[in-house]
Amino acid sequence: MNIEVLEKETNVIIPENLVFGKVFTDHVFEMDYDASKGGWQKPVIKKFEKLNISPAAMVFHYGQAIFEGLKAYKQVDGRIALFRPEKNVERLNKSAARMSIPQVDPKLALEAILELVRIDQDWIPTKPGYSLYIRPFMIATEECFGVRPSDNYKFIILLSPVGPYYPEGFKPVPIMVTDKYVRAVRKGTGEAKAAGNYAAGLIAQAEAKKEGYTQVLWLDAVEQKYIEEVGAMNIFIQFKDEVATPMLSGSILPGVTRMSVLQLLKDWNYNVTERLISIQEVVESYKNGNLLEIFGTGTAAVISSVSKLKYNNNILQFSDEQAGELGIKLYEELTGIQYGKIEDKHGWMTYID
Ligand SMILES: *Cc1c(COP(=O)(O)O)cnc(C)c1O
Repeated sequence: MNIEVLEKETNVIIPENLVFGKVFTDHVFEMDYDASKGGWQKPVIKKFEKLNISPAAMVFHYGQAIFEGLKAYKQVDGRIALFRPEKNVERLNKSAARMSIPQVDPKLALEAILELVRIDQDWIPTKPGYSLYIRPFMIATEECFGVRPSDNYKFIILLSPVGPYYPEGFKPVPIMVTDKYVRAVRKGTGEAKAAGNYAAGLIAQAEAKKEGYTQVLWLDAVEQKYIEEVGAMNIFIQFKDEVATPMLSGSILPGVTRMSVLQLLKDWNYNVTERLISIQEVVESYKNGNLLEIFGTGTAAVISSVSKLKYNNNILQFSDEQAGELGIKLYEELTGIQYGKIEDKHGWMTYID
């Protein structure tokens, strides 16, 4: 299917103080789904404008909504490149399937992302650490109070120029383990990037903030015993002789950054494992001196070193100022590949001509 471009003009205005996800480019990709007309309709790229949606649209009532997040970079030689976009398209379709939303042709979805970035490429900031955040999402738009999958959807892609996640540099963050709430349960929706998962986690995040912690580390919802992941990041623990991350149990979001970090660690001959990691093991390893560092992985920050981990009365203290050695090494490697400073051995980057 050809994507029709209704308007091409750009008027780039990027403010000095770029707050994450607050500035949007001139264009959006939009494609409607209509079951009565045989499925996905004509894909278009048009001016960014407000949506005209009925207040009875099913997304507002029963939450059929999923999203993705990836980035396009202006590399050091001026080329524009995206990091593993086909993985995000694949995950978008998996999330869709879980939420009873119709899947899209992965080739069309990828082409839509690339074409939109091509049109709004002057919006990609060139300063170091800056990039263009890409937000594909799908919502149910049928007007109906019946509880069943909607017959109408919108697939939309937005672009947003963003600065470095930590403007003051690669600084470690304090994280609190919660056992008061759970994020997702196995066989539930945790492995889908479904909007409702995030709404459910906001209360824990707000309570952690009050105590001075930036993020929450979730435990498994059944036993509250095994670590799962952080708000929008997967988690890695470096023990003395092993780098471990929780295995994908069904309640954890399979991160593209997680997958890439696992590959790099294997390339570098680390002993890497995906397994159950109990919070008790983490605390005991720390006390025994067997725990070297903890870091999170995700598109927005790439790598986040953990300065402090609180679990009930236990406080695991790492450096407040200096990110961990392995975290820095992974950050340098991944951002090096993304900005074209380091050879892309795995063919992770997709270029826009
Ligand atoms: C998006 C997300 C991640 C990180 O995934 P990436 O593909 O690496 O950006 C991890 N956990 C949750 C809950 C997420 O929403």
